[in-house]
Amino acid sequence: MLTIESMQAFIEAYAARLEELCAVLDDLDNRIGDGDHGTNMARGFRTAADRTASGTFQDLGALCQTVAMALLSSVGGASGPLYATAFMRFAQSWNVCTHVDYAKLATGVAAALEGLRARGKAEVGEKTMIDVWTPAADAIAAHPDETGLREAVSRATNAALATRDIAATKGRAAYLGARSVGTCDPGSISSAMFFEELADAIAG
Ligand code: ADP
Ligand code: MG
Ligand code: MG
Repeated sequence: MLTIESMQAFIEAYAARLEELCAVLDDLDNRIGDGDHGTNMARGFRTAADRTASGTFQDLGALCQTVAMALLSSVGGASGPLYATAFMRFAQSWNVCTHVDYAKLATGVAAALEGLRARGKAEVGEKTMIDVWTPAADAIAAHPDETGLREAVSRATNAALATRDIAATKGRAAYLGARSVGTCDPGSISSAMFFEELADAIAG
């Protein structure tokens, strides 16, 4: 069950994880992009965690809307508006809910993925975070329970590592084309961490 408290705990845990691995994500992005993915994500989710920790929220919709606005106002890179879109879709899906079960979690993740696809216009196999969000959303939709969420985490992690062998056709890495092969997509790695921290926060 995802509650207001576990969502706040998730945002804080994800922000802390991004701060811890900021240099690793920047380094990946440095190889195939502009070297700021860790910095962007850590700044964005730290801003979001501070705003959500200090606020009181009537429902998950209001909380997710606050996260979206924090990301939009603090991240300049592509990942800011993409994650803001995901959280706006969560907000719409969980409007007036103080807690959501696994079925509603699956609906929200599916809606977020749809939002990411609409905003970024990327398909699976283009070496973007879509490569991770797609199998994760599929796994949780197929089994909307704790096992399904654990399966989503494991598929997300495998998909993130598998982006190493893909030649990018979207995002900055697409400028390198075939030369982007051999490096994991930074946004896919941070997305796998997203599902890991989400599953841990829900498990409590
Ligand atoms: P920027 O590329 O503007 O510097 P970041 O470095 O923060 O932004 O984020 C880069 C990540 O964003 C990539 O690793 C990729 O996963 C994701 N990304 C980039 N373009 C797209 C897109 N069109 N659709 C989905 N995800 C994308
Ligand atoms: Mg970048
Ligand atoms: Mg940038």
